[in-house]
Amino acid sequence: VEEAFARIEATEPEIHAFISLAKDQALEAAKASDDKGYSTDRPLQGIPIGIKDNILTDGIATTAASRMLEDFVPFFDATVIEKLKAAGAIIVGKTNMDEFAMGASSETSYFGPTKNPWNHDYVPGGSSGGSAATVSAGQVFASLGSDTGGSIRQPASFTGIVGMKPTYGRVSRWGVISFASSLDQVGPMTRSVEDNAIMLETIAGHDDKDSTSAELDVPAFSQTYKQGIEGFKVAVPREFFGPGVDEETKTVVETAIKQLEEQGAQVDTVDLPNMAYNIPVYYVIASAEASSNLQRYDGIRYGYRAEDAESLEDLYIKSRSEGFGMEVKRRLMTGTFSIASENIDDYFMQAGKVRTLIKEGFKELFANYDLIVGPVAPSAAYKFGENEKDPVATYQADLLTVPVNLAGLPGLSMPAGFDQNGLPIGIQIIGNYFDEESIYRAAYSLE
Ligand code: GLN
Repeated sequence: VEEAFARIEATEPEIHAFISLAKDQALEAAKASDDKGYSTDRPLQGIPIGIKDNILTDGIATTAASRMLEDFVPFFDATVIEKLKAAGAIIVGKTNMDEFAMGASSETSYFGPTKNPWNHDYVPGGSSGGSAATVSAGQVFASLGSDTGGSIRQPASFTGIVGMKPTYGRVSRWGVISFASSLDQVGPMTRSVEDNAIMLETIAGHDDKDSTSAELDVPAFSQTYKQGIEGFKVAVPREFFGPGVDEETKTVVETAIKQLEEQGAQVDTVDLPNMAYNIPVYYVIASAEASSNLQRYDGIRYGYRAEDAESLEDLYIKSRSEGFGMEVKRRLMTGTFSIASENIDDYFMQAGKVRTLIKEGFKELFANYDLIVGPVAPSAAYKFGENEKDPVATYQADLLTVPVNLAGLPGLSMPAGFDQNGLPIGIQIIGNYFDEESIYRAAYSLE
């Protein structure tokens, strides 16, 4: 833990992976852990870990990178934090992110951006950009991110690490600040596949406090990831290599797919229907759910409160106007529009129907295949500021990650190669429901 803080102190002024550090608490926890002595039922004993700042940590500020929650200090731990602590992990601090996890570059944080450790002119991806950068920069061994539409996988791809979005329901969302409740899922970000499997094993499992968490046993991912992929059937959707995906990315990912074949997998090119609808469907559903979830930030119950309000309504308006940033407001406006009574049938309900079709498309593929693979993002990391010009273009770059959330499937990103600027490019491995095990086996065979 001391080494982790030494590395953080040396690199953090440039990278800015953290919104807050919890050095005193961490050193105290590490000392207590030493006093207890090593035990095999605490597989993460003494391991320093970073936590995305939308996951509640008892006694450590949790801001979701928003002015709205700048002073919010939770008085309990999210279930995933309880589980990490029970396994002996040490929380070193809270990582930077896009405000309320809305974004893909970590530039929408109220606390300023995180830099990509590979090249400081480039974004680390997002929204879990801080969680990705801290692992990539060697500050900590692992972190937790959250993925609503790609926020674990895309920053993992941009920073050359391993990031897993588990099956919806595999990991408890209790104590995680909601963005879009039917899509949100917490997952591990690590340097290696093995570390990732250990982390997921630790945080997964049913939780009485989250009715959407599955009542399924957690397989021993860390025991099976080395079993190889002999005989696996792997589908490669043509649509993952369509226009908008750059040539370097295609080449790097195609080379990795050949390696899967060399390891004994049978690889087929297939069609995945409805790809064109993923972005509109995701942005209607995610924004609609966000507009409902974020109603609680009203300046009354908790969070930022404007000072000079003249009436109750004025207090709501001022607190939300001053407390939320631009991107959050954009989502709340469009989300509120699509569930307004005069629009809901044309937008939100239609999006729900198309979501079902998207899910069916995946189910048909998984009737015949073990895994689906392709790129994570259309390109490697881009430079700061490129986002601001055109928000819709940023949304479109989520094209390859959002289908996995809409369907509720597990998906992992891991390093596959580099672009001409020397920036990492990831490959995405998507599994059937609750089959993270096959994903880890394929990932390890590429490591
Ligand atoms: N980039 C997507 C969005 O802005 C995904 C974010 C996420 O997964 N939290 O909504």
